[in-house]
Amino acid sequence: MRIHDSFSREPVELPAPPGKIRLYVCGVTPYDVPHLGHARAAVVFDAFTRWLRRRGNEVVYIRNITDIDDKIIDRSAALRDAGANGDWRALVERCIDEYTRMTTTLGCAPPDREPRVTEHVPQIIDLIQTLVAGGHAYASGGSVYFAVRTFEPYGRLSGRRVDELVAGAAEAAGDDKKDLLDFALWKAAKPGEPSWDSPWGPGRPGWHIECSAMALHYLGSGFEIHGGGNDLIFPHHENEIAQSEAATGERFTKIWMHNGLITLQDRKMSKSEGNTLQPSDLAARHGAATLRFYLLNAHYRSPIDFHEDRLRDAKSALERFATLIVSDDKPVATESTRRIGEDFRAALEDDFNTARALGVLFEAVKEANKSDQAARDAAAAAIRECGEILGLDLIPARSADAEIDRLVEERLAAKRARDFSRADAIRKALSERGFILEDSAQGTRWRRS
Ligand SMILES: [Zn+2]
Repeated sequence: MRIHDSFSREPVELPAPPGKIRLYVCGVTPYDVPHLGHARAAVVFDAFTRWLRRRGNEVVYIRNITDIDDKIIDRSAALRDAGANGDWRALVERCIDEYTRMTTTLGCAPPDREPRVTEHVPQIIDLIQTLVAGGHAYASGGSVYFAVRTFEPYGRLSGRRVDELVAGAAEAAGDDKKDLLDFALWKAAKPGEPSWDSPWGPGRPGWHIECSAMALHYLGSGFEIHGGGNDLIFPHHENEIAQSEAATGERFTKIWMHNGLITLQDRKMSKSEGNTLQPSDLAARHGAATLRFYLLNAHYRSPIDFHEDRLRDAKSALERFATLIVSDDKPVATESTRRIGEDFRAALEDDFNTARALGVLFEAVKEANKSDQAARDAAAAAIRECGEILGLDLIPARSADAEIDRLVEERLAAKRARDFSRADAIRKALSERGFILEDSAQGTRWRRS
């Protein structure tokens, strides 16, 4: 299996099963409600780890929580000013709860570990001391800065040249840096800010150093994959490489795997309709399974230009799977159902192309609806198994009778909503499969023709 590496810009081969795959993914800074970008990263890496485990790799999946940061401090101060509870720890716990509720709703299993910055301050201080001792960092005014020019390969991941960066780094006025390019590893505490003791006085970790410290602590140098959103490439991941490799003298990670971002085209429109685009609200309106399916129906590296209508499309697409009527007979795999599984897996082996993999299943359901019952049963079993690999319940396991009952219910609901074209479509679909509906004052009964 190959994954596109953002560093080399080439596909890189993953260890064959049962080889170990250590994965570190940058998690959230809990200062606000989670947005769609958080949902995408969580779903992509959840589906990815499910697939790696299914193909037989041993996986260690770590996703950190940045539970102390400027944004948290600013937000808690704003809450305090507004007369609300401004305790930063309370804010953090509330936001972590919301994030966890969202990922659970979207069917994501928890990572193997979710380390928090505030629980790893000693490891962070150790790493900073190593950098200071090695001449890659210096203390100044109670803070510690990384000296970017001491790390010659700086800029390779993001394709930036140090000289170009100088021009853009002028915002740093007032800091105690020796060079505008340098970034904080440790920030001296301002009055009233949360702080920890350190050899440089009370302060807190800078943003970037935490990921280096926690990744190295749990996974060591040279772990297989470091993941995160595209927006983290610069400066966050560039700085992670610099800190980690300057400290250890070893390669930090073998593959940088970045997911594409989500742009919101209809943000304005949704606001005027009183809708929010928070994942939990979208899941409530369209179903959590629909949202998960929608997020996986794009290649993880592609940007998604979000529009709520696309979720409605995703829901109709999912319904196409759900109308595949299976019998209670035990399915017998055939040459064509084996091919469904093979094509599906081949797409995932090729840079985790979930869009292509789901395309295979769409084709399969189209074919199956034209086939006899035995072929339908076999295709349904194959599609169900493939869906499970990505954490999608495409064809819920249920008896044919329960399935017909469900469609009859759905037709009644459509009639009540005066959606007669939908009601007729369901009746027609059922009659094509040999089921006759009989409406009466007592309700609707069905029989086999
Ligand atoms: Zn990170």
